[in-house]
Amino acid sequence: MILDKSVSELHELLVQKEVSAGELTKAYIERIRVLDQDLQAYLTVLEQEAQARAAEVDKKIARGGDLGSLEGIPMAMKDNMCTEGVRTSCASKILAEFYPPYSATVTKRLEDAGSILLGKLNMDEFAMGSSTENSAYQKTRNPWDLGCVPGGSSGGAAVAVAADLAAFSLGSDTGGSIRQPAAFCGVVGLKPTYGAVSRFGLIAYASSLDQIGPLTKTVRDNALVMNAIAGYDSLDSTSVRYEKPDYTQFLVNDIKGLKIGIPREYFGEGIDPDVAQGIQAGIQTLRDLGAEISECSLPHTEYAIPAYYLIATAEASSNLARYDGVRYGYRAEAEDVLGMFRKTRAEGFGQEVKRRIMLGTYALSSGYYDAYYLKAQKVRTLIKQDFDRAFEKFDVLLAPTAPTPAFKFGEKSANPLTMYLSDITTVPINLAGIPAISLPAGFVKGLPIGMQLMGKAFNEGVLYRTAYTFEQNTEYHTLKPNLTGEVPAHGSR
Ligand code: GLN
Repeated sequence: MILDKSVSELHELLVQKEVSAGELTKAYIERIRVLDQDLQAYLTVLEQEAQARAAEVDKKIARGGDLGSLEGIPMAMKDNMCTEGVRTSCASKILAEFYPPYSATVTKRLEDAGSILLGKLNMDEFAMGSSTENSAYQKTRNPWDLGCVPGGSSGGAAVAVAADLAAFSLGSDTGGSIRQPAAFCGVVGLKPTYGAVSRFGLIAYASSLDQIGPLTKTVRDNALVMNAIAGYDSLDSTSVRYEKPDYTQFLVNDIKGLKIGIPREYFGEGIDPDVAQGIQAGIQTLRDLGAEISECSLPHTEYAIPAYYLIATAEASSNLARYDGVRYGYRAEAEDVLGMFRKTRAEGFGQEVKRRIMLGTYALSSGYYDAYYLKAQKVRTLIKQDFDRAFEKFDVLLAPTAPTPAFKFGEKSANPLTMYLSDITTVPINLAGIPAISLPAGFVKGLPIGMQLMGKAFNEGVLYRTAYTFEQNTEYHTLKPNLTGEVPAHGSR
C-alpha cells in the first residue's frame, strides 16, 4: 500500500523513481472509485485533469528536473475554494452550476507548486455546521465508524486524508471547521493566524473569521503545505505582510523548557470526561518530554458561543445577499423580478443557511444592532484580551479540540443549539484571530480524539514544534481506520 504514505514519503518515492506521478494519481482515483461509494467525501472527481497534470510532472522527472516538495502530490480541496472552470458548489443548490471564471490564490499556489488536484470535497453548505450533515448533496461518513459524522464543516477534507483518498487537503475554518473534523477523523489540521493565508477566491461565510488551512497525515506535511499556501497576497485586503518563515525549520523534536498553559475552562462542563482524560494523558507525555505545564484561565470563554454565533451569522447574512439568481448559479422561474429573488433563495438555500441569514439580519437590524452585534464585538475583544494575557506567561495553550469524539448521524442535527454548543473549544480561537492546530492524541471508544494547541498570532512555528515533538513520541498518527473495500495494488516500476 502506497497511498497511506505521507507527502514527504511520497516525495521521496517520486524522486527515487519508485513510483510515477501518473501511477500515484491513478491509484488514488481507483481508491476513490472503490471507497468513496461509502465514504462520500468527494463532490467532484477530476480524473482526466489529474492524469494530465501528472503526465506533465512525469515529463519533468524524466528530464531530470528538481522536484519541489509538493510536485506530483495528489490532493483535494474543500468545495468552497474557487477552481477555474471546475464546479465549486459550496455544497449548496444555489451554486450547483457555478464554474468559477478564476481560481482562488491557494488553488493557484498549489498549482504552481505542482501538486495534482484530484477533486473537490464535501462540506456543510456554505461551511455552516459541525458535522457535514448540512450538505445539500450527500452525507460524508467517518472512516472510523460509518455510523458517525466526520465532523464539519470540512468533513470531506478530513475524510479524504484519513481514508487515503488524497495525500493532503485544504479546508477552511471559521469556528473550528478544520480542527474539529481533523480531530474526529484522526488527522492533523491547522487553522492559521487570520491574515496568514489568502482568502481570495474562498467563498465567504464570515469574513472576519474565515481562514484556509491544511489537513494532513503528519505535522511535517502540514508545514510543507503551509510553505506553499501562506504569505501575503495583494488580492486579499485582509492579508498581512509578514516575513513568511520556512515552516519546516520548526520541526524539532525538543520542547524542553517550553511553557504550556492549560485553560481550565476547556476542561469543565460539557467536556466528555473520557476526552478530558485522554488529553490529560497527552499533557503528561509533554511534561515527561520537558515542557513546563501549569493551569491558567481564559475567563470569558463561556461567552464565546453567543458572541461567535452573532458575529458569524451577521457577516453571513451580508455575504450571502449576493445570491439572488442574477449573478451566480441557480435561478428560479417567477412572474416578476422580486418573485424571482424570493423563490431563488427559498429553493436554493438549505434550512441551516436560511436560519443563519435570519439570525444575522435580525442582529444587524437598526433596533437590535447595539444590543446584539455591537455587544458581541465587545465580547470578542474581551476574549482576545484573555489570550493576550495568557500568552504573556505561556508559549502555547493546550486543550481538547472538541468536547466529544465523533457523534452519530442525527444526534445533534435536530437541535441546532446542541450542535452550536459543540463548538465551544474551537470558536474562541477564531474570535481572537490566533493560530491553532489539532493533532491525533488518542482514542475514546474506538474513535480518535484531537489535542488542540494554540499560539500567538503568526507563531505557527511554536505549534509545529510542540506538535512535532508530541507526534515523534507517540503513535496515534500511525493508526489507520479499518476500511474494507478492495484497495488496488499500486503499480511500481
Ligand atoms: N461549526 C461552526 C459553524 O457552524 C464553524 C464552522 C466553520 O468553521 N466553518 O459556524
